[in-house]
Amino acid sequence: MSASTSGPSTDPLLPRLAAIVGETHVLTDADALEPYLHDWRGLYKGRTRAVVRPGSTAEVAALLRCCHEAGVPIVPQGGNTGLVGGSIPDLSGTAVILSLRRLDRVREVDLSSDTMIVEAGVTLLAAQEAAEAAGRFFPLSLASEGTCTIGGNLGTNAGGTAVLAYGNARELVLGLEVVMADGAVWNGLGKLRKDNTGYDLRNLFVGSEGTLGIITAAVLKLFPARRDIVTAFVGLPSPAAALALLDRAKARLGAGVTTFELMPRMAVEMVVNHIPGNRDPLAGAHPWNVLFEASSPSDPDLRNKVETLLAEAIESGEAEDATIAASLDQRDALWRLRESLPEAQGHEGGSIKHDISLPLSRIPAFIEAMGAALERLVPGCRPLPFGHLGDGNLHFNVTQPVGADRTEFLGRWGEVSGVVLGEVVREGGSISAEHGVGQLKRDLLREVKDPVALDLMRRIKSAFDPKGILNPGKVL
Ligand SMILES: Cc1cc2nc3c(=O)[nH]c(=O)nc-3n(C[C@H](O)[C@H](O)[C@H](O)COP(=O)(O)OP(=O)(O)OC[C@H]3O[C@@H](n4cnc5c(N)ncnc54)[C@H](O)[C@@H]3O)c2cc1C
Repeated sequence: MSASTSGPSTDPLLPRLAAIVGETHVLTDADALEPYLHDWRGLYKGRTRAVVRPGSTAEVAALLRCCHEAGVPIVPQGGNTGLVGGSIPDLSGTAVILSLRRLDRVREVDLSSDTMIVEAGVTLLAAQEAAEAAGRFFPLSLASEGTCTIGGNLGTNAGGTAVLAYGNARELVLGLEVVMADGAVWNGLGKLRKDNTGYDLRNLFVGSEGTLGIITAAVLKLFPARRDIVTAFVGLPSPAAALALLDRAKARLGAGVTTFELMPRMAVEMVVNHIPGNRDPLAGAHPWNVLFEASSPSDPDLRNKVETLLAEAIESGEAEDATIAASLDQRDALWRLRESLPEAQGHEGGSIKHDISLPLSRIPAFIEAMGAALERLVPGCRPLPFGHLGDGNLHFNVTQPVGADRTEFLGRWGEVSGVVLGEVVREGGSISAEHGVGQLKRDLLREVKDPVALDLMRRIKSAFDPKGILNPGKVL
């Protein structure tokens, strides 16, 4: 146990935790705790009595038994890349942070079943690499993949850039091992694709953000390796044109359409201006752009198909220009442009961020209506709708007017969000498409969620965690 800067701890719980995981894995030193106590965006800061780092499912179970008995809150944490404050404790300092990162083994790869069993602390990148080493493909893909963990991905039901073809994290998992609030271990590591034997417990844990149980391992689905990948960057006149192109692409290539990411012109300019190593892939400036990727386990003709598709789109006026990556380096450059956007936006001052989804058909009208409404509210503010258009999921971020005061602008978060999310709800959309609820959207959830659904969620929570020790203050 590392010494606290404020003197040796007198907390009677800590020696009991140390007896389970070993003293070196109970952190109390202020410097050691620091990275666990704030979120990636710097919106949330918490306090903890200790960060505990178990190395096995048995240790997680023993820790939960101990905390359950003592009534001590537990905040599970993976890579701490979540964007809604779900992995950060409150300021009371009563909670233990349970870091799952030492559970980092790939337990099994079963090629006949097309599955692999990985522990919760395996990073998404390591899971992708394990699949690749076995000649398979694991399609979940997020810009945070080097740091985020499979436990966090499942805890948040992460989305990312390949949902269009492969689905969210929920659709990529067959079985789970979960430690319950009282330390009981549910071995649900089944590999079955068909199993209609009652309530689907797995799907309750996926997306529950650590409020129902601690995921310690998962059976992930593997897919055939993609041998042929074609990546293009397209300039378009409008979001409506982008949707028309998406329709055309799905009609021609079906499930081969893997990625369809929308970026307004301003987003490309921000990345090119602020993040070294990026350049505009197209000669002219276009009001909107799409990063488009098609892939197949084996289709040597795929590039020709994409070329024909884009030529037709330009002919019909849906697209204004397009370029197809001719090498791996060019492909990486197109992806870098997309993935550098959150960082580039930071250089333009404050941004009020939303992660929304809408029925696809409503997106063009929504973007237009929001542009006008936000200009009325904060003249000069810069709406930046970008992201996973193919899934109906936009990161509808609003950047401060040029030269405005950052703090003053961010102080209007509630008003700006009220306009954006009010319209999302009226349009039958979701206030959280892929990031979850955490602390950030907990109060809002109570306002917009169907009351019967909320009541059922509360009853599920109290059935799974009657003492309320699992990630309190999150989701509900
Ligand atoms: C640059 C960047 C890009 C991103 N892009 C995307 C994107 O495209 N799509 C997307 O969906 N998200 C995205 N995210 C958000 C984030 O990466 C995901 O939510 C990710 O799934 C979180 O994983 P993590 O291991 O960091 O979880 P954490 O942040 O540690 O935790 C997230 C939540 O899961 C719970 N949790 C963690 N581990 C467990 C466990 N083992 N058992 C039970 N609960 C657990 C935590 O308590 C918390 O509520 C992005 C984040 C960043 C920083």
